Amino acid sequence: MDYEAFFAQRIDELKRQGNYRVFADLERQAGDYPHARRHDDGCVSEVTVWCSNDYLGMGQHPETIEAMKEGIDRCGAGAGGTRNISGTNHYHVLLERELADLHNKEAALLFTSGYVANMTALATLAAKIPGCVLYSDSFNHNSMIEGMRHSRVEKRIFRHNDAEDLDRMLAKDDPARPKLVAFESVYSMDGDIAPLADLADIAERHGAMTYLDEVHAVGMYGPRGAGVAERDGVMERMTVIQGTLAKAFGVIGGYITGSSAMIDFVRSFGDGFIFTTALPPAIAAGALRSVQILKGQEGGALRARHQERARTLMAKLRNAGLPVMPSVSHIVPVMIGDPVLCKQASDMLLDVHGIYVQPINYPTVPRGTERLRLTPTPLHTDAMMDELVAALMTVWGALALERAA
Ligand SMILES: *Cc1c(COP(=O)(O)O)cnc(C)c1O
Repeated sequence: MDYEAFFAQRIDELKRQGNYRVFADLERQAGDYPHARRHDDGCVSEVTVWCSNDYLGMGQHPETIEAMKEGIDRCGAGAGGTRNISGTNHYHVLLERELADLHNKEAALLFTSGYVANMTALATLAAKIPGCVLYSDSFNHNSMIEGMRHSRVEKRIFRHNDAEDLDRMLAKDDPARPKLVAFESVYSMDGDIAPLADLADIAERHGAMTYLDEVHAVGMYGPRGAGVAERDGVMERMTVIQGTLAKAFGVIGGYITGSSAMIDFVRSFGDGFIFTTALPPAIAAGALRSVQILKGQEGGALRARHQERARTLMAKLRNAGLPVMPSVSHIVPVMIGDPVLCKQASDMLLDVHGIYVQPINYPTVPRGTERLRLTPTPLHTDAMMDELVAALMTVWGALALERAA
């Protein structure tokens, strides 16, 4: 086989479909968020970033940065081993305690990313509980899907955010079989939110465990930033709450929280936890500080401002007649519905207007629902929003894109 020709041909196909991914080469400017320098063919320009998952700017918070520097000065660069073999640093222990407290659970377990947390926890729980059946929301994130697939356990897919559909599926299965229902709180591409209380009711009625991915909610919802389950008063009804330290907390890493016995089980049997080096201590130190800040008063103020910014941006887009999708969260998607046009719109915004919004195409979203996904932060001003809307209007005109119905 001509391997090189095969690779090139498959890439050409992607390009023809408009689904080839080009990374923006950015240099973030600590203290100047949401601005960044963009490198392109030897040229450097300033851009405003409108698609970062550093939702609250915590990745550039002076105290997060200071905590990481202190962590490096005290402990050095790396952890030096897996958690079991010399790699457990005191910062890991403190961070796990902090996360357990955040979610009002007995224990927490750190992973190198939110992806690895989902992959490992779901694969381990499902595969190692004899006879387990999985129930998965049809919009679940790839990391959950891969974790479930890896478990090789029977899986049923219920309609997105449809508690009744889940109820019917659970009712059909043997009541004696162990069951695990997996879903997210905020779905990050549409910005909709799951009916957590309904899902908990139904899971409880059928004796099923619940696994909640709060990746797009931790730091941002609830009085202490523990997520939508905290906001809705249902944290204690979730068997597992999973989160990331990489989005609103602004650093890197993932975790699960739950009962001591469940956490000890995943700690003891989860391959993706056991056989990999622990996070660098300075990362844990930065994340710890970030979680503490968002738990407190400053976090509350940032959360209020964040929601206000999202509502304001949506209103501005709607008033301009742009097809903003009906999000109930901080995520503001604008529909384009075609991969090639979506990429062209993104390119024009970046090259002509200095506005960076990555096109969201298949397989991240279904074909025909390609979109620009805007993530306003507390640091995006009214003036930046007005600039963005004006640029979008120019692009919408130039490409003859569809407006709001
Ligand atoms: C980003 C994401 C993850 C993975 O988290 P990382 O910390 O970035 O690896 C998991 N679940 C959902 C829903 C996500 O969007």
